[in-house]
Amino acid sequence: MYPIDLTVPESEHAMALQLGARWNEKYAVWYVPRTFNAEPLSRWLTARQHVNVRARTLWLGRVYAPCPICETSIPLHGLVVPAGHSALFAADDPAEDFWQVVEEPAQLYDVAYVSAALQAVLRVHAPTFRLGYSELLEGFGWMNYCRHCRERIEDQGCALDFGSPLNPLDEHMAAKITLKELRVELEATCGSQSCGVQFFDQMPRSCA
Ligand SMILES: [Zn+2]
Repeated sequence: MYPIDLTVPESEHAMALQLGARWNEKYAVWYVPRTFNAEPLSRWLTARQHVNVRARTLWLGRVYAPCPICETSIPLHGLVVPAGHSALFAADDPAEDFWQVVEEPAQLYDVAYVSAALQAVLRVHAPTFRLGYSELLEGFGWMNYCRHCRERIEDQGCALDFGSPLNPLDEHMAAKITLKELRVELEATCGSQSCGVQFFDQMPRSCA
């Protein structure tokens, strides 16, 4: 069974159906079929009601590394928010969750939702980084796809593990990650975020 993925207001049911959303009678929930491209349905993703990071600008990290499946060298992307971003900290009682300014940059992992303005920018600058179904999360998330074999690459393999291409062990690895500033406001729902970014200053900035 799927997690509850979509919140669709009654007036938009017809539109959601037309875009591929389905209604589960038994559980009375809207969901995205597993193999379906969720992007047109992202406005209804329940995750957008649980935004937990905000920033006025962000960096798109990019590194070329072998695809874990076909081994072709491909671009992998990740989202990095600068020092001064805001994060929602969870309290024991959710009513007491609080926002706090974080004075360190952070990489975002298991991103379930990003605001529409950022989605549009990512379509242009990182077309192989998109919303898809994650087996590990059992839900939808933004992830890398191989531009050669088209397989999805979960954050686990390319960003979350220390020493993976987007999570450098040393300055030499960090020097291969370029950071491009995306001048767009970010609102996102992420599963986790790093506390600081290792070797952040060694990552070259790209302006093109
Ligand atoms: Zn591949």
